Amino acid sequence: MAALSEFSLIERYFKQLTPQREDVLLGIGDDCALLQCPADHVIAVSIDTLVEGIHFFTGVDPESLGHKSLAVGLSDLAAMGATPAWFTLALTLPKLDEDWLHGFSQGLANLAKQYDIQLVGGDTTKGPLAISIQVHGFVEANKAIQRSGAQLGDMIYVSGCLGDAGAALRLQSNQWNDEILNEQDRVYLQQRLEQPNPRVQLGQELVGLACAAIDISDGLLADLGHITEKNGMGARLDLTKLPLSSALSKINQQLAQVFALESGDDYELCFIVPSQHFAEVEQRFKGQVTRIGMITDDDGIYYIDDNDNLIELKGIGYDHFIN
Ligand SMILES: [Mg+2]
Repeated sequence: MAALSEFSLIERYFKQLTPQREDVLLGIGDDCALLQCPADHVIAVSIDTLVEGIHFFTGVDPESLGHKSLAVGLSDLAAMGATPAWFTLALTLPKLDEDWLHGFSQGLANLAKQYDIQLVGGDTTKGPLAISIQVHGFVEANKAIQRSGAQLGDMIYVSGCLGDAGAALRLQSNQWNDEILNEQDRVYLQQRLEQPNPRVQLGQELVGLACAAIDISDGLLADLGHITEKNGMGARLDLTKLPLSSALSKINQQLAQVFALESGDDYELCFIVPSQHFAEVEQRFKGQVTRIGMITDDDGIYYIDDNDNLIELKGIGYDHFIN
């Protein structure tokens, strides 16, 4: 970082880009930021690191990367029902590339404005490209939606569509292709991978309705598995209910279901609703969420096949369908 000091880099590219909030008593430029949490609320905190070559392809559009780096944290806040407020950024850069920094900061700032989250501190280092963002939000005391809280007979819902990001990842890495996808489908899938929309508003609206929730970063089965294990429960899914985009509805149905079950990076919410709130959830979020199954006392996550057999959803990989 010979040309720009750490201070001036954050100052120059990031400081003015994000919203200026009244609860930031002291922002970038001192040893610490000073932040005011509303009375009777608690702070929800989460950090994620994205490393080049592991979490994103080398050469990915910097604006998309800026968006995604913040989106993954916002998605964690969404899963708790928290309201985004502040974030910090640690950036490791191999070199000072002004064009890259400009694009990255724009992508970051556009999403920050959308969710009124302010950058309140940062650090830059020289090294292989990596981005760490810690997000802070707040939620009324004792109201945060946690992974624990699911009970026998509760219903399992997901937001949006599943499997798009996983399909895009496999298209981009040449692990899979399907001629049936047109250019529009491919652009859509790539956007779902590179610029996910965190379900922040939905998460906040689910406070008091959902008894447990998680964001789908590692795939539905893995993430729902965190909920069932935490609660000592199991689940039964109706695979025909898994919500698929119009792009994934075109491909082999079983493969689309595997993408929806096993691939990560969708950043949709998976949430659990107790019986007294089914009707309200169905009505308020019609078209936004889909009921895909039920919490059971099974040991694991299962589905019922066409011949009424109970089959555990475990270890069906893409390999079975690809090639
Ligand atoms: Mg998460």
